[in-house]
Parts: sequence; structure tokens; C-alpha cells
Amino acid sequence: MARVEKEPKEKKQAEYYYAPDLHVLAEKLIKSQDSVSHIDVNEVIFLWEIETMPNASAKCFNLTSHPMQLFTDARFCIVFYKSNIDHFTYDQKAILMLHELNHIPAIGSKLIDHDIKDFHEVLQLGVDWNQPGAKVPKLIEGEDEEESKESK
Ligand SMILES: [Zn+2]
Repeated sequence: MARVEKEPKEKKQAEYYYAPDLHVLAEKLIKSQDSVSHIDVNEVIFLWEIETMPNASAKCFNLTSHPMQLFTDARFCIVFYKSNIDHFTYDQKAILMLHELNHIPAIGSKLIDHDIKDFHEVLQLGVDWNQPGAKVPKLIEGEDEEESKESK
């Protein structure tokens, strides 16, 4: 009897886009938050990834020893995974961005494995800060819903 081969489930390919909206968001945080004031925003590539759903809302990459370094002067890359955070408000995105920026060291290029618990305590975030409709602190004054709609 012939074995029925199961057709392999096709894994979704990651699809990346440059994210000028995230670049602007990071720039505002770098100007206003002491914990990330050491970062040169131009050394970071910001991307949206729209297809996959990894176990994280966002990730920070060190490019300095990556083969892609041949093609860019950027030292770091921050990716936001749209499928996981499509419901995020602008304020929630700002918190996520601050979190990712916190991985970038002041000296050298080794990513900082920062203390998430600490981060949450400083911002007084509830465990549900990333849920739809959660109330979160406003990191950037004067921003409103308009801006968050624009970035979708
Ligand atoms: Zn982190």
C-alpha cells in the first residue's frame, strides 16, 4: 500500500517594509526618554513585518556582525510584527518601541538583555498593557489617534 504523503503546510514567508513611521516614533522617544538618549536613530533600520506571527511583538537585531552589514551602515534593526500588534494604539506602540530601543547599548554593539520586569515597574505597566483597549502611560505628549491611524 502506498503511503499517503502529507502535503507540507506552507509556512508564511516574512514580508518586510521600511517603516518611516517607526523611525519618527523612535526619534521622538530618543529625544524625550533618558534611558535611550544615547542612540543615534540613523544607526537603526526600522521595519514592519506583515505576514508572520512570531512569539514576539517586536525584535531588535544587531547587524554589526551580520553578513547584511555589507549592504548597510546601520548597526541595528528593529522589526515590528504587524500581525501581532495590529490592535495597538499609538501609545502602546511607543511603549513597545521604548522597550526595543532599550536593547541598544551605549557602548559597543552587544544587545542589552534588559530586565523586562524592571521596565514594566518603571512605567507601571499592568500585565495586560499590550491587550486591546488597555490603559497605558503616554510617553509622547501631544500625540493623538490621528497619528496612530496614519501608521496603519
Ligand atoms: Zn526586550
